[in-house]
Amino acid sequence: MFAIFIITKLMSQNKTFANINIDLDTLNDDLREPSNNPNLLKEITYQRVVPRFLNFLRSENLKATFFCIGQDVKTFPEVIKSIDNDGHEIANHTMNHPKQFALLSMVDKEQEIALAEKEIERITGKRPEGFRAPGYTIDEDVFTILRKRQYSYDASLNNSLFYFILKSIYKQLFIKNKNYLVLQKLKHYASPAVPYIPRADAFWKKEENDEKSSFIEIPIGKMKGIDLPFISAVLLCFHRFLPASLFYNLSRRPMINLQFHINEFTQESDIAGVEEDFILTKTYCSLPLEKRLTSFSSLLNWMKRDYTLITLNEMAASLKGKNVHADDAPQHFKF
Ligand SMILES: [Zn+2]
Repeated sequence: MFAIFIITKLMSQNKTFANINIDLDTLNDDLREPSNNPNLLKEITYQRVVPRFLNFLRSENLKATFFCIGQDVKTFPEVIKSIDNDGHEIANHTMNHPKQFALLSMVDKEQEIALAEKEIERITGKRPEGFRAPGYTIDEDVFTILRKRQYSYDASLNNSLFYFILKSIYKQLFIKNKNYLVLQKLKHYASPAVPYIPRADAFWKKEENDEKSSFIEIPIGKMKGIDLPFISAVLLCFHRFLPASLFYNLSRRPMINLQFHINEFTQESDIAGVEEDFILTKTYCSLPLEKRLTSFSSLLNWMKRDYTLITLNEMAASLKGKNVHADDAPQHFKF
């Protein structure tokens, strides 16, 4: 009752929607080379780091969307249940998190989506409504499968050109097996930076005439001008040069979603004695956890001031059948 009162009050102030979402890629998904002990790495993430993030959300009084990997849902059902019990949304992040997802055949892609869907439904009793591809790699096949399986939204599109350039350089310099990292096609970067109804024949383009579509693309946001993606990892990696206030204000759009990765909540003591070549986790840990949480908390406070925070499936439901405005829409538009 109280929550309904608050939402009604916020909506009457013309606030539009924002979301926070998190990819539950474990420490095992942040390695340059495969680990000899993947189970230990997954356990650290699921038994120490996920509960820490849930506490953080409780202290912030927020509901988020969790993109979960089917295999881990199967291994840690109790943790998944605790996420669900806290009222968060559980969405699909494939069964095995293949980094070369876009290179799989149509049949294998559907298998990855269907198996994770089955695990999530088995544990939570709810069919996931949303999907995010590993490494933001999507193509026409993925949209065809998601529509066929009656998903409400996809949230895989990262259209930051800056990110594309960084990833290309990283791939050339540090990755031996070039199939290990897949880049999206350059034309995908012309897609809108706010939620839109994707065209059936070109998902990166907005469908102008479809008022009744029930499928929405909710892309990762990006900063105006600098073009960095609106993901919390950017704040951690560039904190010396990029003040959080600038990061936030240049990322503001009619609707925004902030993407976290669970490894950003790992602390030094979690990985003490673990000898692995992590891609990003050590960088995150170079900033004390308390400082990271303070920084995230201030970012979330600005978002709460300017937006009503809801889950991605609620965001998609609010947009169904409505032609979504693009970048040129006013800061606060009414649905
Ligand atoms: Zn992932």
